[in-house]
Amino acid sequence: MADTDLMDKLVSLAKRRGYVFQSSEIYGGAASVWDYGPLGVELKRNVKEAWWKSMVHERDDIEGLDAAILMHPRVWEASGHVANFTDPLVECLNCHRRFREDTLLSEQGAADAAGLQCPSCGTRGRWTEPRQFNLMFKTFKGPTEDSAEIVYLRPETAQGIYVNFLNVQQSARQKIPFGIAQIGKAFRNEITPGNFTFRTLEFEQMEMQFFVKPGTDGEWFEQWRERRMAWHREVIGLAPERLRYHPHEKLAHYASAAGDVEFFFGGSIGDEGWGEIEGIHNRTDFDLGNHQEWSGKRMEYIDPAAGERYLPYIIETSAGADRVTLAVLANAYREEEVEGETRVVLSIKPSLAPLKTGVFPLVKKDGMPERAGQIHEALRARGIPSFYDESGAIGRRYRRQDEAGTPFGITVDGETMENGTVTVRERDTMTQARIGQDQIEAYLRERIG
Ligand code: ATP
Repeated sequence: MADTDLMDKLVSLAKRRGYVFQSSEIYGGAASVWDYGPLGVELKRNVKEAWWKSMVHERDDIEGLDAAILMHPRVWEASGHVANFTDPLVECLNCHRRFREDTLLSEQGAADAAGLQCPSCGTRGRWTEPRQFNLMFKTFKGPTEDSAEIVYLRPETAQGIYVNFLNVQQSARQKIPFGIAQIGKAFRNEITPGNFTFRTLEFEQMEMQFFVKPGTDGEWFEQWRERRMAWHREVIGLAPERLRYHPHEKLAHYASAAGDVEFFFGGSIGDEGWGEIEGIHNRTDFDLGNHQEWSGKRMEYIDPAAGERYLPYIIETSAGADRVTLAVLANAYREEEVEGETRVVLSIKPSLAPLKTGVFPLVKKDGMPERAGQIHEALRARGIPSFYDESGAIGRRYRRQDEAGTPFGITVDGETMENGTVTVRERDTMTQARIGQDQIEAYLRERIG
């Protein structure tokens, strides 16, 4: 399958099975904004919970936070976003479509705008002068649309962590090194959004800021880089050959070292199909230093034991929940020939799959629907997401769950009614095992993780 086909197939599968819908579809759709359907919301929640478990619940040295989206406008002046969070925007003089000049230059290998061809109409070298376009969405607070009342929708969750650094450190009685983690929405008025949920105007970030003593930052950067790569591989189950770490050559205004965890999506995403799913940055004391200066409030950490006070350095790990979710879908999508038909399977890791099992009566008679219904209810009551389906041939019911990414299928048949055993079908191998009805929960728990 060509890579470009994969994204199209995912868009259509996502809609068909209820993973992702275009926002405001009945009005023609809102460009680059997507809604998560019944299965999508579960998958994304499972991704976020896996992150929270690894970053917060399994560690003593990281605390959670849920800061507000709207912040004091000076935060964004202090952080440098008002002045620097910009992309160079150029407009084609022929078709008036707008693009990011830096992206076009690197995609087309051109030295300047004179050599650039418009991706939309094909005209070469006819562009407006580049204009620095700020990516922050602005809105107004209060009843007047007055410039004094401008507030921003946060373009990253990180700043909510920085301004709360001492609140968290003191209330949780943490000592450096320690981290603060947060999951939440961020907004960017991207010039050229697209590629399904890869680049959207509104997205969720899973960010962790780790505060360290200056001088130890290089070591911590390396540790976090390795841990985060391992998380994507081991916890999320992304194929190792589709993951790479890409160090930045050009650093953002706040960073002394930075790199991206990239996943191979294929198609037109990123650098020849490799797209960033997480950024890892050494932000030095840039953010705390600026907040200290702009707010006039001390942001230093005091270490009474060592008799020291200093502004900590920050190692940031910043992952996109939507991009990781899209990577899970792209990683899981398979098509194979089975008995002359194409089988579409989403081989999502069972721990992340929205539904863990389907429950099916083989036929709609002889007490089988009632027995299957009881099994389904019991699983649900025990916190195992299950789906009951009695409509259509059993093969079709299996296929529907294969496409939805459900790792197991339990079938109640004639033997169940005689001796209390059921078959459990495994999505990826299509093999079946026969187990006692009373073993179902243990069987699934062992494999769901
Ligand atoms: P890109 O270079 O792709 O624009 P970035 O370097 O600006 O990304 P960061 O500021 O490092 O991204 O943000 C951290 C993470 O947030 C990214 O790795 C990505 O997963 C996610 N993210 C950033 N922008 C978007 C977006 N427009 N849509 C979806 N996710 C995004």
